[in-house]
Amino acid sequence: MLTLGGRGPRRGSSLSNLGIIKDGALLVRDGLIAAVGTRAEVEALPEARVAEKLDLGGRVAMPGFVDSHTHLVHAASRAEEYELKIAGASYEEIARKGGGILNSVKKLRAATSEALKKRAHAALKQFAACGTTTVETKSGYGLDVASELKILRLHKELAAEQPLEIVSTFLGAHVVPAEYRGKTGGAERYIQLIEENLLPEIGESRLAEFCDVFCDRGAFSVVQSKRVLQAGRQWGLEPRLHAEKLTRTGAAQLAMLMRAASCDHLEHVNKSDIQALGKSETVATLLPGCDFHLGLKQYAPARALIEAGAIVSLATDYNPGTSPTLSMPMILSLACTQMHMTPAEAITAATINAAYALRREKSIGSLEVGKQADIAVFEVAEYREIPYYFGVNHCWMTVKRGRVIHAAEQV
Ligand SMILES: [Zn+2]
Repeated sequence: MLTLGGRGPRRGSSLSNLGIIKDGALLVRDGLIAAVGTRAEVEALPEARVAEKLDLGGRVAMPGFVDSHTHLVHAASRAEEYELKIAGASYEEIARKGGGILNSVKKLRAATSEALKKRAHAALKQFAACGTTTVETKSGYGLDVASELKILRLHKELAAEQPLEIVSTFLGAHVVPAEYRGKTGGAERYIQLIEENLLPEIGESRLAEFCDVFCDRGAFSVVQSKRVLQAGRQWGLEPRLHAEKLTRTGAAQLAMLMRAASCDHLEHVNKSDIQALGKSETVATLLPGCDFHLGLKQYAPARALIEAGAIVSLATDYNPGTSPTLSMPMILSLACTQMHMTPAEAITAATINAAYALRREKSIGSLEVGKQADIAVFEVAEYREIPYYFGVNHCWMTVKRGRVIHAAEQV
């Protein structure tokens, strides 16, 4: 059993410490972990004698994955763009031709809430089947008042209707919507809409915990991003940021300056960014699924970030344009083979450090007394086989708050 217990976020060599207990066991009470130890220790507890037993048959148990970056609610895939990318078109070329994010925006605006919800529910079942127990999800394919609120309200409904924990993020500043493009001051007028017509409603109705911005070439500048994040904070939304994905803009420095929970992507960080992240409380979330799907050669410098002491985390970036995967085991495989993280580092990044990226480290991310009993069980001989068998899901069981929410076979 991998417990991932310990104090504080994992930096440097502590990413390799999985807190392994051989022949381990947990005692769960009311969805929370009441005791952790070896089977002999836990079974000796008076409460354990009367508890219902669930034998995992010697399989590998670990904290459920915390997927801290997804764009769960969208209307359809962009499989048509996949072929264009394979033929050599870049992400930005496709975006200029009306594809990319604006393509998803068009589809989402035309979709009913019911259709969007049905698609999201189906995806959440697959997240659970891959061992994920918490999913952050962003708006950002609406880009007008009604559609952005439609997505954020869906986050709330999804959280109530199914077992996975949903963390809602407002990403109104994903890109400038088509109706504001090509006009002087278009981006500024759209930001004004966010400030005056979206954030007050989101803040008052508590529709999101975080405010995110896509700060990059073709999206929002550092100055514009800062303005949006500051406005979000006034309504109680904590900042996080899409940073240094296509180019280096200084977004990671902005994230640290604003004490953001996380800055995500980071393919184009430079040496001084890496050094600063090494000392920062802002988590460095890496999204190798995105680089893999786009066929890019430049992944984020995971090794340099770990060596500098950054709080490195991993997420799927599940979205229809650049990372259509919801499999954290696949992300671990990519982190290992493409970014040279070890299996242990990748597991830590996808659990306890990801919990820090969502400011939920007190309740999830490790198997420790007092935390939620969020558990992923894998049908493997040892933990290294989870990323080793790439593209195959060996998740055998998923437990959320003490309740089995996915089982590969009848138990
Ligand atoms: Zn994203």
